[in-house]
Amino acid sequence: MTRQPSADGPNTAPMQYSYVTSRNPPDQLADSGLPAAGAPAGGVAAGGAEWVLFADWCAVTGHAPLPATSETVLMFFGDCPAAPATLGRRLTAIDAAHRAAGVPLPERTGQVRDVLRGRPARPVRQELPADRVEAALRRLPSHGWINGWFGRRDRALLVVAQAGVPYRRIAALTAGDVTLIDGVATIAATRPVTLHPGEDPVECGPCALVRWLRALHLALTSPATRTLAGAIDRAPAVDGSSPHLCRSRRPLPAGIAEVPLLPPIDPRGYLAIDPRPLSPHSVSHLARGNTTGPGAVHRVDPQTPDEMPPPPPGTPVVPPPTPYTVGDWEQAVARRRADQAHLRGVDRALDETDRKAAELNRRILALLADP
Ligand SMILES: [Zn+2]
Repeated sequence: MTRQPSADGPNTAPMQYSYVTSRNPPDQLADSGLPAAGAPAGGVAAGGAEWVLFADWCAVTGHAPLPATSETVLMFFGDCPAAPATLGRRLTAIDAAHRAAGVPLPERTGQVRDVLRGRPARPVRQELPADRVEAALRRLPSHGWINGWFGRRDRALLVVAQAGVPYRRIAALTAGDVTLIDGVATIAATRPVTLHPGEDPVECGPCALVRWLRALHLALTSPATRTLAGAIDRAPAVDGSSPHLCRSRRPLPAGIAEVPLLPPIDPRGYLAIDPRPLSPHSVSHLARGNTTGPGAVHRVDPQTPDEMPPPPPGTPVVPPPTPYTVGDWEQAVARRRADQAHLRGVDRALDETDRKAAELNRRILALLADP
């Protein structure tokens, strides 16, 4: 199936592109300002199969071929998959046509380079709509176990993403990359990004970071998850009358500077012992998921030992299965008996040591008493 060019710009509906040159009338190509197959193209030697394929694809999908954007090239690569070497030849042909026409070449973005190397394209950054970020900040909780724990992390992620920090950089941030001075948070990056306090504590970016960093610090320094769970359970809901933690005199938690700012949380609310950062793809997924949908709802896992209620009285105690075999047990008993035989003379040796120590004490006392 092919689709026709749209006067409103590129089509966005999902499509299956099949390349059949003969189905594309020459006037259609002419309408799009393209060199027709087999004809000179602004000085470009015609007949290059790669350029013809791209020009035809642009004609049927409604994309501008000259100049083409990197997004257009990426969509072309996606619709007409091929080996990386073939994609490289196609891009060389596209570049040659741009040079000949005297227009800027499609930008070699990270996504384009990924595809040319045969890797999955890194997430394409799309600006987060301000109204959806605001709605997400109003919806995501900072209190109540377990959603307040995930909510704090995702709120921090959203305010950093909305400030324009690239997803790849967000994934690499550590807690120490966030500083707070007079309510203004600064995120370390090639070009540092600042987050100014908002009027409403619910939407305040620096406050979202402070709430998350305090919870992260508690999670990393508490012996049990139940401590964190209790603290987040007791935390009041954030609303318009909540204090601005960004203006608190309490400094940001210390001692976690090297920890990833946004580590993954497992479904039971645990962090890894040695937390790794979220991948750029996960950062993108969370940012988009929280701003385009209702977001994930997390439930407390009843099997989590920390949260398991005590068994009712009279419940028979079933011993946990042992990983040892009868052979292991017999060998352990034999080793223990051998050790006992080896240590049989220890009692006598200790008695003799006690006797000598008592004799030494007696002589010391005699010397001290000697005028
Ligand atoms: Zn604030």
